[in-house]
Amino acid sequence: MAYVITNDCINCKACLVECFEVAIFIPAKKILKSKLNKFYISTDHYNIDQSKCSGCILFGFPKCAEICPMDAIKEV
Ligand code: SF4
Ligand code: SF4
Repeated sequence: MAYVITNDCINCKACLVECFEVAIFIPAKKILKSKLNKFYISTDHYNIDQSKCSGCILFGFPKCAEICPMDAIKEV
């Protein structure tokens, strides 16, 4: 299970503190130079590092998606 942040994100940071895997990161140009999946990276809104996201398998639901006020986090 993988989750991505869509363009509906308003950068409220709510999901950032919810992620125990520290998989969510702020938009920044330096991130683009990393090994992250380029298709899910935006310099305009928050992103999820696909290599770190566990899909919250321990909780049984995606904590980030549950708290997002914009419903901007989607399963792909
Ligand atoms: S689904 Fe869970 S592990 Fe993945 S980014 Fe959201 S809070 Fe983090
Ligand atoms: S909680 Fe939703 S709107 Fe807020 S930063 Fe995360 S994805 Fe964006």
